Amino acid sequence: MLQGSYDQIIQVISDSSKLSVEEIERKIEARRAKLSGLISKEGAAQIIASELGVSFDKQKLKISGLLSGMRKVNLIGKIVKMNRVVEYNKNGKQGKIGSFLLADDTSNIRTVLWDTNHIALIESGTIKEGDTIELSNGDIRNNELHLGGFGDIKLSQDRLGEVQSKPVVQFKTIDKMQVNDSILTRAFIVQIFGPTFYNVCPECKKKVSETNSCEVHGNVIPKKNAILTLIIDDGSGSLRAVLFTEQIKKIATEAELENNDTFMPKRNELLGKEIFVEGSVRKNKLTENPEIFVNDVRDVDIDKLIEELEK
Ligand SMILES: [Zn+2]
Repeated sequence: MLQGSYDQIIQVISDSSKLSVEEIERKIEARRAKLSGLISKEGAAQIIASELGVSFDKQKLKISGLLSGMRKVNLIGKIVKMNRVVEYNKNGKQGKIGSFLLADDTSNIRTVLWDTNHIALIESGTIKEGDTIELSNGDIRNNELHLGGFGDIKLSQDRLGEVQSKPVVQFKTIDKMQVNDSILTRAFIVQIFGPTFYNVCPECKKKVSETNSCEVHGNVIPKKNAILTLIIDDGSGSLRAVLFTEQIKKIATEAELENNDTFMPKRNELLGKEIFVEGSVRKNKLTENPEIFVNDVRDVDIDKLIEELEK
């Protein structure tokens, strides 16, 4: 899940098992070799930890050190964004979900509360945006911290100052990407779908009807938006990357983006090209497959890379 997390896990294992960091790293490498490198360093570290009987129960972890699959996680963080409590009704079962963005000095993570007693703390204003809180017995799933009935949440005596409230972008290869990651990657464009065009309301940016009417703003002169889907491949895997108008304009001119025909030469130019892609990994609502929502895209400028390496 995160680069920095590996060192932190090793430190926790070392502190609890009294083995040296070097010794633990040797065990991890041996395990990876045995599994022909099919497992990540972080994954192997978790296996070694459980074999040594090291639990992360009593440890307070930093957010950058959290790994998907970790259980009974304890940490301290500051609520940097409180979300509305959502009520749901699924298969006749009613319930509520509370959520907020929790940050510490290393990173931030979406935190989800499932227990009505915990959610009541939000509803009553006992726990609110800006508060520093202590969470225990949480589980990490899909880069989110989930707190159920066995978990605990309370105001902390500590006050966290400066925290990392922006998404922490990490460079990742496609095979390492997980849902909810903020990533930067470098890959080749191997397929292009679209652009598909649709009209939106210039006020609220929502899709308008065929008669150019917005649900909120009535009849409007629509703005034309586009979606472009790339399949990118970096050798470790391939993934869909979805670009909206603002991002497409970084790689195509307005004239090229007029329609599918004018885009044709650009399409040919882009195919096979290597690019940097920055964005967040989301689950496609229809296909359930992960894809990248692109926030930024730029050419891989080999000359510039060499220049930076030489610095
Ligand atoms: Zn509108």
